[in-house]
Parts: sequence; C-alpha cells; structure tokens
Amino acid sequence: MKSGIKLLLSIILLHITMPVFPVVEPEFIPKTINFGHKQAHNRKIDVIIIHSVYNASGGDIYDVNLIIKQFARYKVSPHYLIDREGKIYRMVKDKDIAYHAGVSSLPDGSSGINNRSIGIEIITSLDEAPSAMQIDVTVKLVKHLLEKYPVKYVLRHSDIAPGRKTDPWNMNWEGFIKRIKEKTDE
Ligand SMILES: [Zn+2]
Repeated sequence: MKSGIKLLLSIILLHITMPVFPVVEPEFIPKTINFGHKQAHNRKIDVIIIHSVYNASGGDIYDVNLIIKQFARYKVSPHYLIDREGKIYRMVKDKDIAYHAGVSSLPDGSSGINNRSIGIEIITSLDEAPSAMQIDVTVKLVKHLLEKYPVKYVLRHSDIAPGRKTDPWNMNWEGFIKRIKEKTDE
C-alpha cells in the first residue's frame, strides 16, 4: 500500500475512534467589570438563561463596549456576552452571581434565579436574528456548561419573566434546543 493512502486511512480511523465528548472548551475573551455581579462560594448552578441585547443609547447598536456601558448604567451583567461575529466575552466567573434575570421565576415557581444560574447575552436587535456564528458558539458554550454543571433548565429570559421580557429576539429556540441535545455538533 502506498504510504499516502496508509496515512489517509489512519487519519480516517483516528477520526472515527475519537470520542464524541468532551466538548472542547470554547475560547473566551476576558472582560473584567466592577458592577452587575457579586462573589459567591460554592453556589449550585442548575439553570442557564439566554438573553439578547443591543446598544439602545446611540451609536453602533452592536458595539460590545457601548453595550457594556449600558449594562454598567443598569448595574446588570451576564456571565457571557456573544458579539455578532461569535466571539465570547467572559464578564463574570461562573462561580459568581451575575445580575441578569431580574424579577423572574422558574417553571417550578421558584425565584432567586440569579443565585443559581448562568446568564448568556447574545447581541441581536428587535428585528434581527442571531447570526449563524452566534448560534454556533452559543451551542458550543451551552454544551460545555451542560457538561460542567447539573443543569435542570435552559430557558429564555421571556420564559422566566413573561409579560416583562421578550428576549432572546428572533431566535429559533426549538432548533437551538435540538442542537444542544445532539451528541455531536456539526
Ligand atoms: Zn434578558
């Protein structure tokens, strides 16, 4: 057998025998902030909340730094912020409590969602959907979190604060939930 073919075969075999899990940790861009969160010790994380946000204060509606300024004004923050290109900014450590849920309750009626959840903000607008790149990295990020924590609920902000919140906007939620449940993500 020609060595080229042999090499090709071994690459194919290697690929086939590679384990499906674990999901590789996504790349994070650290963005340290001094508002919108507090330190916690040994908190139990069992909820993931998906949001969307844009800069409504003038200038580029998708500008990351302007959006962070807006969070600062309201003293809120997600743990992760996903920009239009699919870059993930880590603003608050998972172990700490971020203020993102507001007045809200889980399907089982319990409140205090910030204490037990991870918040993810996707930059979109009221009339634009998350980009394909944003969905891809959000799937990757959520799958990574599902591996790390005993998550009971992955919910939209609008699921926990109906009537008050409508985000994430224009997101194919069923498609997203289907993808985070898949063993492999293509
Ligand atoms: Zn929200």
